[in-house]
Amino acid sequence: MDNTFNFDTLAVRSGTLRSEFGEHSEALFLTSSFVFANAAEAAERFKKSEDYYTYSRFTNPTVTMFQDRLAALEGGEACMATASGMSAILSVVMSAMQSGDHLVSSQSLFGSTLGMFSQIFSKFGITTTFVDPTDLDAWNNAVRPETKMFFLETPSNPLTEIADIEAIGKIAKAANALFVVDNCFCSPALQQPLKLGADVVMHSATKFLDGQGRVLGGALVGSKQFIMEKVFPFVRTAGPTLSAFNAWVLLKGMETLSLRVDRQSAHALEIARWLETHPAVKRVFYPGLESHPQYAIAKRQQKSGGAILSFELNGDTPEAQRENAWRVIDSTKICSITGNLGDTRTTITHPATTTHGRITPEARAAAGITEGLIRLAVGLEDASDIRADLERGLNGG
Ligand SMILES: *Cc1c(COP(=O)(O)O)cnc(C)c1O
Repeated sequence: MDNTFNFDTLAVRSGTLRSEFGEHSEALFLTSSFVFANAAEAAERFKKSEDYYTYSRFTNPTVTMFQDRLAALEGGEACMATASGMSAILSVVMSAMQSGDHLVSSQSLFGSTLGMFSQIFSKFGITTTFVDPTDLDAWNNAVRPETKMFFLETPSNPLTEIADIEAIGKIAKAANALFVVDNCFCSPALQQPLKLGADVVMHSATKFLDGQGRVLGGALVGSKQFIMEKVFPFVRTAGPTLSAFNAWVLLKGMETLSLRVDRQSAHALEIARWLETHPAVKRVFYPGLESHPQYAIAKRQQKSGGAILSFELNGDTPEAQRENAWRVIDSTKICSITGNLGDTRTTITHPATTTHGRITPEARAAAGITEGLIRLAVGLEDASDIRADLERGLNGG
């Protein structure tokens, strides 16, 4: 399909492969292998496994449709799907780096990504320097001759720090490093990092692309050369492949992506503005608020503030802050107490004791994740119902 169509058209129409039966909705190809007319055809197709369907660890038509649609939405040439967001990170590092190479990464990362860089890749001689994502000099100063990759997540989790993709992209280019951006929090509906200078966009499709909390999935989007010559051989051989069933669920999720994300962002802004005025709240972290330290960058590189916000409660001591945060969480009747995000259902988390509970108290403090902090991933429920749900605990339970 012609990828010059606008985003909402691409979300619904791009990447459709129709079989001989003329099905209207995308078909779900639940098959592990594909058959051939004769031995010569089998030989030919195995030789060019990227162009044909032979075995679903390599390629599958439903997965191809997911890849083509996501590539269209991100404005990239090619996409490789993976079983989860984490296996997308595994795949990009295994495809682009080798022992002795060095990575520069934002220090404000999803917990498992931090663990991957600091504990797993380090075992294989790939070292990482972590930097403050908003400090351009820090990115510059971290570069070494052996630096091969820059890795960034923006907005960050849970404090929604915004890093300047375009500016960091220039530093990466000068360093000859592959610039990878985790676009999970915004999704392509709000931010398209490839257009701002990223080389590769990484996704946890588990979040907004599915959008309804059903399946795990991941993806890498980039140039045809990088995806097909570097990533495809790794995924094909190592097997962190996306299942056809999950690809099919994700395809249907992507059709409503911008509708959901636009509405969820509007709700998040309304809730963030209200929280800012509440006496029990010390501070609100949301890129759509003028009070956000990187509001200007967010306005430039994102369509809106997104669906995720955090807020810190008052309290004289860390213990009092935790008590207040837990009371707000425990007083909710609608919000789901769960670590997932990007769902139609609003989710609420206490990062200090859940998603960021395993890092040391010192590292937590350095990252600004206090005992009074609550993360809210706003869903599609009526925003005034969510406000009332939070207000109960904020007013003393
Ligand atoms: C969830 C998440 C991941 C990991 O994705 P999985 O699909 O859970 O493997 C990576 N980055 C961010 C920002 C995430 O929120």
